[in-house]
Amino acid sequence: MAAPELIIRGARWQDAPVDLLIAKGRVLELLPWDEKITYESARIVDAHELTLLPSLIDVHTHLRQPGHEYKEDIQSGLEAAAYGGFGVVFAMANTKPTNDNAAVTAYMLDEAQKHWPKGPRLLPIGALTKGLEGKELAPMAEMAEAGCVAFSNDGRPVESTELFRHGVEYASSFGKLVIDHCEDPWLAPAAGVNESELSGRLGLKGQPPAAEAIQVARDILLADLLRTPIHLAHISCRRSVELIAWAKERGIPITAETCPHYLLYTEQMVDGYNTNAKVNPPLRTADDVEALLQALRTGVIDCLATDHAPHAAHEKETTFDDAPCGVSGLDAALSLTWSLVQNNALDLETLLRAWRYAPAQIFGLPEVKFQPGDPADCILFDADARWELTPQAMRSKGKNTPALGELLPGRVQAHFLAGKRIV
Ligand SMILES: [Zn+2]
Repeated sequence: MAAPELIIRGARWQDAPVDLLIAKGRVLELLPWDEKITYESARIVDAHELTLLPSLIDVHTHLRQPGHEYKEDIQSGLEAAAYGGFGVVFAMANTKPTNDNAAVTAYMLDEAQKHWPKGPRLLPIGALTKGLEGKELAPMAEMAEAGCVAFSNDGRPVESTELFRHGVEYASSFGKLVIDHCEDPWLAPAAGVNESELSGRLGLKGQPPAAEAIQVARDILLADLLRTPIHLAHISCRRSVELIAWAKERGIPITAETCPHYLLYTEQMVDGYNTNAKVNPPLRTADDVEALLQALRTGVIDCLATDHAPHAAHEKETTFDDAPCGVSGLDAALSLTWSLVQNNALDLETLLRAWRYAPAQIFGLPEVKFQPGDPADCILFDADARWELTPQAMRSKGKNTPALGELLPGRVQAHFLAGKRIV
């Protein structure tokens, strides 16, 4: 065995203290901790009292650069990721200019490299159609060549099923997946509030769950027709979960994500016209929350993503109708979902699958289970820490989250990528 260069000593992994031996950016070995063993010539990080977790993957963020740097930029977005425990973030294409060509893709990668050379890694998701207008496919092959890892029209779902089909087929011809934001374009798009008694009482036009489920059904039928995988973004409701379960029982190649806010909050958060709870798709009901938790436990929903969508304070401090949709997610996502582990709504294995193993499998990245040869991408997490989610505590420029003011469990104390400490 090669000599370890870095050893993380005594961290808890699967309920037992371990020593993680690292060399050349990779895991050499994971050994049971033994206080009698001493190591020479290696840098030691004492991690007693901390929990070892793989660095997380977020397959759905909006980093706003180029074009909307007042909301977020790549530097601040990756900072929030680094401190939030995310070593890989996928960045959506609704920038200005749109990431619908190789030049914008290269610019985003350069910015990430400039500010965070050791990571977190930014992986761009290219626009499926030019300008996200849904009229003409983007030059996806050259964008893939430039570094796009997937394609999506997120935020502005493609109306033409035929064009969407061609996009899925074209992307798959060079091995890339399409991520679909499922939303019927005519059924109260981007309403930001569920259609229910509550929306009626507030005098707001609500969006029914069917707006999402109709497109989920379309995508399932297309994936079946084409025998080509499609990944469904930010699933929010029971109906969609039932359709996805139906598809998976039949072996149709569909994968899906949901977000922490859909597991923790209901539409009641919107009451009082709380624009920080305005998100697309909207927060739904307690029954939908239960269906999503169950789907995550059983694997019907494969993974979690933040849908990190930072906005400036002045944009959210307006009427509910005028406020943009979105929750700033990277800072608190791990703590919020850790709270679900603490109250036994999810187990730790499900959490790791949702934040690391499943996104890695779906998008062809390393899973990181601390096997010899795995990248040394890990976080040291203080599971007993408590911290208040204040605007000052958030590294993202966007402070827009319904969790603001909550006391959250667990905090990232250190973050290593390829054996190099970034936090
Ligand atoms: Zn979306």
